[in-house]
Amino acid sequence: MKKTKDDLRWLTGGGEMGKTIRSKDWSETPLGPIESWPQSLRTTVSLCLASSFPISIAWGKEHTQIYNDGYWPICGKKHPPSMGQNFSECWEAAWPVLGPYFERALKGETSFVENQRMFLDRNGYLEETFFTFSFSPIQDESGEIGGLFHPVTETTANMLNERRLRTLRDLATMAREEKEEKETCALITETLSANPFDLPLILVYLLDESGETAQLCGIAGLEGANPAAPQEIHLKKDSNSGWPLEEARTSKKGIYVDDIEKRFGNIFCRPNPESLQKAFVSLITESGNENCLGFVIAGISTRLPLNESYQRFNEMLSTAINSTINESRAYQRERKRAEDLAQIDKAKNTFFTNVSHEFRTPLTLILGPVENLLSQTREVLSASVKTEIEIIYRNSLRLLKLVNSLIDFSRLESGRVEANYQSTEIGTMTTNLASGFRSAIERSGLKYTVDANPLPSEVYIDHTMWENIVLNLISNAFKYTTKGEIKVALRQEETEVVLTISDTGTGISETELPKIFQRFYRVKDLEGRAFEGTGIGLALVKELIKLHGGMIDVSSTVGKGSIFTVKIPLGFNHLPEDQISKTKLNQRIETLAKPRITNRAKAFVQEALRWLPEGANLSASPGVSGQADLSLLQRNQPSTSSDASGNDSLTTKIKKKRILLADDNVDMTIYLKKLLEKNYELIFVTNGKLALEAIRSERPDLVVSDIMMPVMDGYGLLKEIKNNKATVNIPVIFLTARAGEESRIEGWETGAD
Ligand code: ADP
Repeated sequence: MKKTKDDLRWLTGGGEMGKTIRSKDWSETPLGPIESWPQSLRTTVSLCLASSFPISIAWGKEHTQIYNDGYWPICGKKHPPSMGQNFSECWEAAWPVLGPYFERALKGETSFVENQRMFLDRNGYLEETFFTFSFSPIQDESGEIGGLFHPVTETTANMLNERRLRTLRDLATMAREEKEEKETCALITETLSANPFDLPLILVYLLDESGETAQLCGIAGLEGANPAAPQEIHLKKDSNSGWPLEEARTSKKGIYVDDIEKRFGNIFCRPNPESLQKAFVSLITESGNENCLGFVIAGISTRLPLNESYQRFNEMLSTAINSTINESRAYQRERKRAEDLAQIDKAKNTFFTNVSHEFRTPLTLILGPVENLLSQTREVLSASVKTEIEIIYRNSLRLLKLVNSLIDFSRLESGRVEANYQSTEIGTMTTNLASGFRSAIERSGLKYTVDANPLPSEVYIDHTMWENIVLNLISNAFKYTTKGEIKVALRQEETEVVLTISDTGTGISETELPKIFQRFYRVKDLEGRAFEGTGIGLALVKELIKLHGGMIDVSSTVGKGSIFTVKIPLGFNHLPEDQISKTKLNQRIETLAKPRITNRAKAFVQEALRWLPEGANLSASPGVSGQADLSLLQRNQPSTSSDASGNDSLTTKIKKKRILLADDNVDMTIYLKKLLEKNYELIFVTNGKLALEAIRSERPDLVVSDIMMPVMDGYGLLKEIKNNKATVNIPVIFLTARAGEESRIEGWETGAD
């Protein structure tokens, strides 16, 4: 029976695959000539061809495959033989995955599978692909299953994109900061090893300091020793046989290597069984200067095309690794810097403590004999010798005070303070400490009230620390108060001891107030008795009070005065047990009844005495009433400046030149007087403002000025002198303890002569 062309009318259209099916000689296939196909097959094929969704059909006992235009690209180079081929033979490579679903469909069970990975040999190699598909049975005229309906969509591109983005994201969110550079490399490798399909091999190399040898710091994909992953690569020597690291470094860009077998032989990496063929060598560079730090070698999957999107992934990966390593380096640098600084700080503290201790011994050995000398009777020491010794004494005490505060402070800083908290009659102790200042304060014309009676409850304090707290606060009150009153009061309030020290001094402005407890902080150009100080006092006081579980507060009004309030809890429950002394209170009271004046207290009081206008005119040691002739603070008249030897007859004939000396340190003033009084007429003032007034009225020939002074400092004074036509020609010499080239230059720069 001859079929006519009309019989193929059902097979019109269907694009390229329609043509292929029409032109194919099906008589050579198990399906037989088209004309003999049952209606069920005809209907199925026309349905398939009419669809633009990729569909394949497997029909008959031999599962003969027919597909449409949409399915055609899935076949790759298998087409055209794949048209009419046995379905299971055609897709043999994917059969481990496809087979079970196919078999189930043959038994009548439909299956639907999403994004299934399978390896297809459609392009001459096994290629990693992803598909979403279903298999469903088609019944023929007999009611049997005549074939399978297989719509398919390829999701390879999406799946690869997602996978690669995930890898980049994992790298970006990887914990990295705390790690050393090498650890970071290992961590990067570990993170990347989660994606062996795109990165079958990862090697991270870092250059050593010579810049010529790269060390292996991260490896994934290879086990054990391997020629492709040496521990060390000499860039120049190994560039021909091994990885082209030197070439990458010189060309400053990534390089694809495609002759791995030639370079290293067979390299087998997970997860695919084929030997690695290609890899991408990229650079790790220092951000900012592009210095080469190392290399990343990323294997290319043997089962994926090295297309644009794979290459883009490699580039992005290289960028991400670069930023990870640079971030980690920056963090390490920062940490190292912090460590170095801490080290220096610690060394500085140790140095301060050591040096201060070293100072204290000779100072004590000076103070002892000097005190002995001063207690000698008038017959033994002449008045002038005694004056000199008093200067030694006062200044040794001053040094001792500075050294003590340095030791206290560096101990606190390094956390090495051992307190000894004892039950104390704090009222008596505070009164004793405060009374040391009475003479100085009253001589200056200030009113001084001390109101500290024994308290009803028990208080535990460290004696040296309390001494330090009280002395510092009273000494400050005196230093910054020139008129009015200083009040010291101690009382119990519920569960606390409250000490208040109020003055009617300069006060502290609102902006300065929060800063005065910072270490080394000092308010500038304050009107006070002296500008001496280190800015340690209040910082120390605050820490000492903290050690007692207490707090310090200050309220102040500029021009009216300040009130410092210290509060310390009663009892000992708040104190560390191992630092509480068991000595009984009544034993303590006995010692307090005969107060021992410590060198620390003497130093504070002596310092205060030196701030008095007639400061140096005082007895230096308690109990000794030396009356030194030092009424020189205003001026030495030419007539009184001649010495006993009479050899100044010449100088009195010639008019003496006049020098104005501005300095707030009494002892320095005495010293300068000794040096200069024979040949010059001297005028003394204690700050810059007074100096300006004296310059106007006395017209000195030379000004010699200290730099650090209260009210107006040396720089301020110099500016005023040099900005005024009337005084610009008066030469100015600065006196400073800050020796060295730098302060000399600084002086010249401000216009000193
Ligand atoms: P120093 O007195 O050595 O400068 P302190 O730490 O004792 O250092 O004090 C810090 C600063 O606080 C002082 O420089 C001063 O400006 C200010 N100050 C402290 N006590 C008083 C006070 N009673 N009246 C006014 N100012 C004060």
